[in-house]
Amino acid sequence: MSPFVENGKVWMNGKLVPWNEANIHIASHVIHYGSCLFEGFRAYETPKGTVIFRLDAHIRRLYNSCKMYRMEIPYTMKEFMQAVIETIKANHLKSCYIRPIVYRGYGKLGVDPFPNPVDCAILVWEWGSYLGEQALESGVDVKISSWQRMAPNTFPALAKSGANYMNSQLIKMEALVDGYVEGIALNVRGHISEGSGENIFIIIDDTIHTPPLSASILPGITRDTVIRLTQDLNIPFVEETIPREMLYISDEVFFTGSAAEITPIRSIDKIKIGNGKRGPITKNLQDEYFAYIDGDRGDKYHWLTYI
Ligand code: PMP
Repeated sequence: MSPFVENGKVWMNGKLVPWNEANIHIASHVIHYGSCLFEGFRAYETPKGTVIFRLDAHIRRLYNSCKMYRMEIPYTMKEFMQAVIETIKANHLKSCYIRPIVYRGYGKLGVDPFPNPVDCAILVWEWGSYLGEQALESGVDVKISSWQRMAPNTFPALAKSGANYMNSQLIKMEALVDGYVEGIALNVRGHISEGSGENIFIIIDDTIHTPPLSASILPGITRDTVIRLTQDLNIPFVEETIPREMLYISDEVFFTGSAAEITPIRSIDKIKIGNGKRGPITKNLQDEYFAYIDGDRGDKYHWLTYI
């Protein structure tokens, strides 16, 4: 069954158009040269109503991604955020995944992107747990990928660009074909970078570690959320270079992402992590994460947008 709202609407360049008419021409620059920047985040159904989690952080990252690629979005951030809200309302969804995308459209083919318009769209659809039904509770089995993350000064890792996801697809396909749920990529220095669509955290002796932004990672919004929550919970935290073998001897390892949320990792390369189950600190962070989204913690960081 299609997860898409096929009788729903897509926001395209300022207009809501029927899902089945939300098309672009095959000669659009983005189709040939990967020229798009996008976002992915969620709206949740909570006891206090539907809430978008960290809307402004995601829109800010979208504008930053576009800036790196010299793309000027013809809307203010405020207008773009309003368009996200409008799209969710138009599709009558209580919870959903939200996918804004900015791309070089139809104009002139050739590597030079400048002759093409900067087009924008927002799609929403219902999306359950990203790494499987049981993933949040039981954890997932993953492998270290033979594919590395892009080298510094090749493709900007801090931009969420469509082209970067060709690298992610190699990591993901290799993991799936080998019988794992996900792959973890090293960077060109051989240190831990991230999953194909998630940041990574490890816990050793009650201290949380995560690689720095210079490790060829996307600056995850969930990563940022988890770092703030560790501070709130007084859990010691360090951002540092992580060698591959440190993963195997960790007490707990988990992925973070707007889609993956906080997903425990129970084995890496068939080596059991901790006792092979979701660990107590991971559980504690998951509880805090979802309690914050539900509005149970107030909203001291202004992360919640009710619609
Ligand atoms: N790294 C990559 C490569 C991703 O695709 C994602 C998902 N957007 C993340 C990390 C996590 O980012 P966020 O928490 O902002 O969803």
